[in-house]
Amino acid sequence: MPGQRADVKELKARLDIVSIISRYVTLIKSGSGFKGKCPFHKDDTPSMTVSAEKGLWHCFGCGEGGDVIGFVMQIERLSFLEAVRRLAEEVGMSFDTAEDGARDELRSLMADVANAFSNNLRSDAGEKARDYLLNRGYPESCWMTYGLGYALPGWDNVKRTFSRHGEAILLKLGLLVQGDKGTYDRFRDRTIFPILDLSGRPVGFGGRTFEGEPKYLNSSQTPLFDKGRLVYGISWARERMSQTRTAVLVEGYTDVLSLHQADITNAVGSMGTSLTQGQAELLKRFVDEVVIAYDQDAAGSAASLKGMQILRNIGLGVRVAQLPVGEDPDGFVRNQGSEAMQEILDAALPFHEFFIESLKARHDVTTIRGKEQLLEDAREFYRSVRSSALREEIERQIADLVDLSVESVRRELPRRPHPRDDESPPQVIAEHWGIEEHLLALVLRGEITWDAIELHVLPEDFSEANQPIAQRLAAGLSDLSELMSELDEEGARRASFYALAPLEIDVERTIEDAKRRMGHLPAIEKRLAIIDSEIAASGETEDWKRWEELMKEKADLRVASIRAMDAKRRGMHEQQSEEERSESEAS
Ligand SMILES: [Zn+2]
Repeated sequence: MPGQRADVKELKARLDIVSIISRYVTLIKSGSGFKGKCPFHKDDTPSMTVSAEKGLWHCFGCGEGGDVIGFVMQIERLSFLEAVRRLAEEVGMSFDTAEDGARDELRSLMADVANAFSNNLRSDAGEKARDYLLNRGYPESCWMTYGLGYALPGWDNVKRTFSRHGEAILLKLGLLVQGDKGTYDRFRDRTIFPILDLSGRPVGFGGRTFEGEPKYLNSSQTPLFDKGRLVYGISWARERMSQTRTAVLVEGYTDVLSLHQADITNAVGSMGTSLTQGQAELLKRFVDEVVIAYDQDAAGSAASLKGMQILRNIGLGVRVAQLPVGEDPDGFVRNQGSEAMQEILDAALPFHEFFIESLKARHDVTTIRGKEQLLEDAREFYRSVRSSALREEIERQIADLVDLSVESVRRELPRRPHPRDDESPPQVIAEHWGIEEHLLALVLRGEITWDAIELHVLPEDFSEANQPIAQRLAAGLSDLSELMSELDEEGARRASFYALAPLEIDVERTIEDAKRRMGHLPAIEKRLAIIDSEIAASGETEDWKRWEELMKEKADLRVASIRAMDAKRRGMHEQQSEEERSESEAS
């Protein structure tokens, strides 16, 4: 929303980054900025630089960095909007937009519907749901805590009760279903588990049937409810998750509730076994490690293994709890108690051990075919492992399993295309900066404008990691504050680094290097592609002066393109040997 972009810029202009960061970190004046010990890694030397003038911070120890909103997001574990709202409040700005108004209306309707379900539970009609909950070990005292409810039998209870809002909005919220003969209630004769967002507001419902299929029914995707970005119970678990830096991930609503009842209050539900990237990212805001507690059959399934990989890939530690066969966390904790459950969680296997166990269970290694399938299965996981020590350990264990030598197993399991032997997040180091980094740094520090290099490089010429920054600069977004708001975490880390790294950059030489070594060609070709239509247009309007200019530009571009091709060919050789550079410059 353009209005919002301007508002965020205005907000940042009103905030003093130094005084806000000072609330968490002792800052000392250093040169034109401030230095302090980084709160995001164990920092003995003050590695963090804060620049009031640029409105940026960056840690040269761990590579974190960004603007003031990014800092508050990270240290307080807030989403962008939450951080903006909190900071806005401090300086007396309001962030209500038209869209917010509409969402507020949807939210308040969802709250009313949740209320109606919870009243049903206490009504005469709710007896069977009450019995179910009591039998399950959820006493009346916890119905309110978790907002439990009951959807009445019949096709149009919600539809009639909330008819004044109109069918369209009820459909939009997934409360009604569109059938051939009109709309009807989605949730009928079911025990209701409201699904709450981070702030504890109902955004969707899960309904459990008393008989028939499906046993559980979820709200559909709605403007408020995105199943791929929410885990069940997050609002109840977030505090304990932040404290322990660990989440217990279970499948279902009752698993979450039973664990919370047993005082394991960092439990959240994935609402099915296939965890999504968005859910993993949400968890990462609060924890460093996830302990998976799915029932034994489900844990080894392809869907659940994929979810565990997603968690690992975004940098979370993963362990897998080993419940007795046939048990789910809900049943186990109710029958065996809190302590027994805690023991199971404490003994959870590191992901790689669990994975190898599951390979063992899934393949018959007494046959050649079984061995082949096992190796096939192990391949993707093996490729995702970054630590070489862990890779070797896995090679050894698999070799044992399939009774082959470690060498032949290693041959069968190809490495990742670009192996990185450490587990630390990717970090650009100033000494390793290339032309790309120099160019971006120059533009971000305002030493040159994008115009100066526009003809020589296109954003596409930049490496994938730098492209988001290059694209925005090329699109004319020169304001540092606006630019930072548009970048994701990784982009913000890079931009703050380029803008703040204490490094002298030779402007002339960088531009010359860029001309020779980077794109050039694509930029010329892009212009050539446009120019023919412009020539045609000027011919049609009989603007012969313009026509002549364009023809001349075209001829020049052709020459330039041949030169660029040549230079690029030379440039490739040069990249292999940095020392030959000055010689070819002289020639
Ligand atoms: Zn740091």
